[in-house]
Amino acid sequence: MLDRKLDHGLLDVAVVGAGFSGLYLIHRLTRMSFTVRAFDSAGDVGGTWYWNRYPGARCDVESMQYSYSFDDELQQDWNWSERFATQPEILAYARHVAERFDLKRLVQFNTTVTRADFDEASQSWTLTTDKGETIRARFCVMATGCLSASRMPEIPGAETFEGEVYHTGAWPHDPVDFGGKTVGVIGTGSSAIQAIPELAKQAAHLTVFQRTPNFSVPARNASLTPDEIARWKKDYPALRKRAREETRSGTIYEFAVKSALEATPEEREAEYQRRWDKGGANFMHAYNDLVVNEQSNETAADFVRRKIKEIVKDPQTAELLTPTDYPIFTKRICVDTDYYATFNRPNVTLVDIRRDPIEAITRDGLVTRSAARYAFDALVYATGFDAMTGALLRVDIRGEGGASLRDKWRDGPRAYLGLMSAGFPNLFMVTGPGSPSVLSNVITSIEQHVEFITDCIDHMRNKGLARIDPDARAEELWVAHVGEAAAGTLLPQAASWYMGANIPGKPRIMMPYVGGVDRYRRICNEVAAKNYEGFVFA
Ligand code: NAP
Repeated sequence: MLDRKLDHGLLDVAVVGAGFSGLYLIHRLTRMSFTVRAFDSAGDVGGTWYWNRYPGARCDVESMQYSYSFDDELQQDWNWSERFATQPEILAYARHVAERFDLKRLVQFNTTVTRADFDEASQSWTLTTDKGETIRARFCVMATGCLSASRMPEIPGAETFEGEVYHTGAWPHDPVDFGGKTVGVIGTGSSAIQAIPELAKQAAHLTVFQRTPNFSVPARNASLTPDEIARWKKDYPALRKRAREETRSGTIYEFAVKSALEATPEEREAEYQRRWDKGGANFMHAYNDLVVNEQSNETAADFVRRKIKEIVKDPQTAELLTPTDYPIFTKRICVDTDYYATFNRPNVTLVDIRRDPIEAITRDGLVTRSAARYAFDALVYATGFDAMTGALLRVDIRGEGGASLRDKWRDGPRAYLGLMSAGFPNLFMVTGPGSPSVLSNVITSIEQHVEFITDCIDHMRNKGLARIDPDARAEELWVAHVGEAAAGTLLPQAASWYMGANIPGKPRIMMPYVGGVDRYRRICNEVAAKNYEGFVFA
């Protein structure tokens, strides 16, 4: 850990966050001989994987792909044990990377950056931490993550609950014992869908409060065999290149080349069943138009709805669990292990809080609008994140003339390529709004952004340039392009966190770039090749 008494002086780069983005930034910048320090609220590296320790937490991107590709020896040496890695294994991997490349010495943990001010005269940033320290750096990189600002809903009486309270996104470090306890879970997103089957195995009784049902496909997780690992490792560089340059999501799936409507109903059924049996998000690539054509989409949605009916024994519960009012894949598809089947257990109850909303949390549980009362010993909030902008805007960022980023983004985030926002010179964002970020294998997107940012800073050093800021017009055009790309898909039809719809008062705007990792990468490469077109240097 960084020596507290060390005078940071004027750093080349200050990095906010020590998750997968922060670690790779430190690695690349130090190898380019820049002075760099990173700051993280957590006690260790890992970012979102440091905080999300709830039972059942694992990644829904296959582990052979959800990992860094920048160092071939690293990817050859590391062995994943399961098809979908658990949170502890991903955290162990982040720690391994930090140790292997000696990165931790440049991270100051347990330190929250609260403010960042740009100083015109020195063309540098001053960061202020919750410890009252200030750090000066020529560049500031926000490596704050897209799903790192966990969110508690504002429910009256929440503070009066006398039992145990947990949030999936800020889980305690020591295991929580739910044995013999009655437990309530609010939420049925990806986190809840992973946690519920595990909680149900432990709790005396589990009550799930569902507002919106979600589509989920089985993970079919299993141990990776030495053969499977060897197959990947043999071709790793080529496969990684393909994921980066030829896929929309930065992940290799079995991509289809035809529309669902070109297949007969029998063919479709067989294809959906085959993918359902294989498991994972590969299901959503059964046809090439499932996120753009409503009729095609409906064929996949209908398949999953019938599966829910087949699995869940009680017809009323099955109906409640069935999404009907938004197209499948317009919210992040959930990947589960026995989620729907868990509702067949005698100790699990599903409560529809869309029809009968939670009125208040009480001393021993909660009460709904119809005055139905539920009591439990522990309450688990699986209520998600202030996604994409939350962690960024928790820092009071002040750019040119003291202007605030929160003010600038009041009607929705505006950033050129999702990398920089005009008026905030020398401040980069990794996987910022307007980039593929959460619609991709995020590690692929992180690597691309880190490489773009560090190459750009290096370019500036070589040219003796002190300041970079996006051109306001280039930003405007990019934001319009992000909106148009989204409008060509079904994604805006769901009230999803992609759209900011999970946060009361948050502007409804499609935040990630839907155009694809492959296309986005080409655009960024062209921008860089044209002397960073759309950016203004001084
Ligand atoms: P989420 O998808 O936003 O789900 C939050 C849940 O809480 C929703 O069911 C939501 O209902 C409910 N909720 C929120 N506020 C509520 C309120 N005031 N009253 C009642 N219910 C409320 O969050 P998440 O499950 O943490 O997942 C977020 C994202 O993280 C995922 O989409 C995924 O990208 C990522 N993630 C990935 C994995 C993985 O890799 N396997 C695991 C976990 C998370 P409404 O839908 O009605 O708002």
